[in-house]
Amino acid sequence: MAVDSNGIILQIFQDRTVPELVEGSGEIEEYKGIICPGFINTHCHLELSWLKGKIPMNTGLDGFLREFMLTAPTQPPPKGGGDSRRGIQDEVTDAIKRAILEMKTNGIVACGDISNKSISFEQKDKSELFFHTFIELYGFDPLRAQKVFQQGKDLLDQHHGIRKKASITAHAPYSVSTKLLKMIADEALQQHSILSIHNQESEDENIFFEKGEGKIRDRLEWYGIDLKDWKVPGMRSVEWLLSQLPSSIKTLLVHNTVSKKEDIQRAGEINPNLYWCFCPKANIYIENKLPDFNLFYGEDVRCTIGTDSLASNDGLSILEELKIITKTSPEIPLEILLNWACKNGAEFLGIGKQYGTLEPGKKPGILLLDGCDFQNLRLTEETKVRVLV
Ligand SMILES: [Zn+2]
Repeated sequence: MAVDSNGIILQIFQDRTVPELVEGSGEIEEYKGIICPGFINTHCHLELSWLKGKIPMNTGLDGFLREFMLTAPTQPPPKGGGDSRRGIQDEVTDAIKRAILEMKTNGIVACGDISNKSISFEQKDKSELFFHTFIELYGFDPLRAQKVFQQGKDLLDQHHGIRKKASITAHAPYSVSTKLLKMIADEALQQHSILSIHNQESEDENIFFEKGEGKIRDRLEWYGIDLKDWKVPGMRSVEWLLSQLPSSIKTLLVHNTVSKKEDIQRAGEINPNLYWCFCPKANIYIENKLPDFNLFYGEDVRCTIGTDSLASNDGLSILEELKIITKTSPEIPLEILLNWACKNGAEFLGIGKQYGTLEPGKKPGILLLDGCDFQNLRLTEETKVRVLV
């Protein structure tokens, strides 16, 4: 492969005749390993990086969210506030900086990052990584929908000076009212933007939408939300969610830990512009349960990979996420996994012209996967990623 000094791919060769073929070409560097494009991390929450190691593992999603509410500050620390809040702000900002650097070192070139506040905007703006910020809204009480949506618009306004992309999205089907979801859907249609929503992370989500009971109902009541006017949809949560959203909008469903074959098929019927994101290490951290990756491979749907946040992961590495999938679903070829980790994510984020594949004219970042099982073309525990370009 010939690459110019800006990282743009000039030509790809099958043999060693590079210098004769490319005018002004430099030296050939030789590597043993698999070359792939830079990784696309389609799901992260950089602003939660400071919570690394602070929330216990295997609490289940319900326990995790309750712990999260108790640990995380409910208000963004104001700039120049009192000493203790200033201290929190510095801790949060430093953790975001470290997290972005970690992603870069691990070969991640672009990231779909969830924000509930503006605290990560500056660091994302400064970074050479591509970022699409999803301004995430939640609020189950329909009376608060207008207020929550306006807060999201205000946050989007704050993002306007930033040289990165942003759009408004919903947290999860169980955390938004029908009214708020409609406002988010209308905004996505108007702005031609994309959506990223947590989906079927636990069976509780389906129980809540099918029967109106279980841990999610209990938790909403714990938050003090009155559910007497809420009508139970009587269907799988993903079916309800997608039926509320425009099918023309590219939508990323994140986690899908308990999604079944019928869910994948039904979801695809409702929205042909669907992408699925796996964050296996976060699933192990929170629920100690993984999605059935083979199901998605069998259905040939567009899968992508995310790291989720450091609140539920010990690192931000797409390669480490792929190793988990390789271990649990060895039937999925490495070539497919790399499509999930590179091409599909770039396509979802709308940056396929530059990222996601190795093709002349693109500047996708170039990685070397070292220590693979070359005979069977598989990742091993020893596989390491090295950023070449
Ligand atoms: Zn998440």
